[in-house]
Amino acid sequence: MLQAAPRSFAVGISSRPRIFDVFYVTTVTASGASLGKFLGMNAPMKNDRVAWLHGPSAICSALPAEIKNPSRLILLGAPGVGKGTQAELLTARLGACHLSTGDVFRAAGKRRDCDQSPAMKAALEYMRRGELVPDSTVWEMVRERRACLLNCGGFILDGFPRTLGQAEALKALMEKEKLSLSAVVNYELPVDEIVQRLSGRRTCEQCKSVFHIKERPPKVEAVCDHCGGRLFQREDDRPEAITVRLDAYERSTAPLLQFYKGLGLLLPIVAKGSPDQILTWTMEKLEAGNRPLIPRGN
Ligand code: ADP
Repeated sequence: MLQAAPRSFAVGISSRPRIFDVFYVTTVTASGASLGKFLGMNAPMKNDRVAWLHGPSAICSALPAEIKNPSRLILLGAPGVGKGTQAELLTARLGACHLSTGDVFRAAGKRRDCDQSPAMKAALEYMRRGELVPDSTVWEMVRERRACLLNCGGFILDGFPRTLGQAEALKALMEKEKLSLSAVVNYELPVDEIVQRLSGRRTCEQCKSVFHIKERPPKVEAVCDHCGGRLFQREDDRPEAITVRLDAYERSTAPLLQFYKGLGLLLPIVAKGSPDQILTWTMEKLEAGNRPLIPRGN
């Protein structure tokens, strides 16, 4: 039987067994900047995020370029406001790593059943129902991947933190590592629009690009424009799961707004418009807030 998510959790639970199984790309770690040089990875390559998606024993095909003042952003907003799309656009603009906790769960869900740890199996059940995964499981997963947070190109967190407990754990980790957040962007949208967006959303099973059957349809039905992969509807985008997710957001994630407002980091953005327009507004707000942003190539 599944247990209810704890309200808070301890930071630094290093004696626990690993709950996330490793994806065997190679045996070196995610933080191997010198290894990247050794392998001749100087040319810009699309970061495949395997160290984030599959854990610290996997290494990304491209490591982020070193940036003097890397952007460290958190994207907040209800499911369906377009955080994932903005995260991708911001990643391309800022050269930071896109770190989505939902993507980690989806990647684990694709593994063979016998390759999933009991904690991950339980986490995937929460996800299928549209409920939040318990903080302890999420934090163990993020803590295990902390090299991705510490990388010298910065990060864009999407889907994490989602509760006050997670936010506090992240804050403690960042303080310990003497890192600071650049900003917390909150994307806002009315509920009826969110439901319409989520129910029409289709995701590429290969490259994870996101389409919408009405607003951003692919050129060929159910086929990704970018890689030819099959488009599918996420299980948690079914109407019954959407209601649960929006409730979970109201209960657990909305209090984060006060938390980050109190820290003077919150930047609200109305998420109505084309993805490029929303990106422009986001960049303008970030720059107006005088956050350390060094666009890629500068
Ligand atoms: P969305 O923002 O569109 O709901 P995500 O991809 O961020 O989607 O997350 C999908 C699901 O994964 C969530 O509904 C939840 O079950 C689980 N999940 C992802 N991140 C977290 C988190 N930080 N805390 C708890 N559950 C999470």
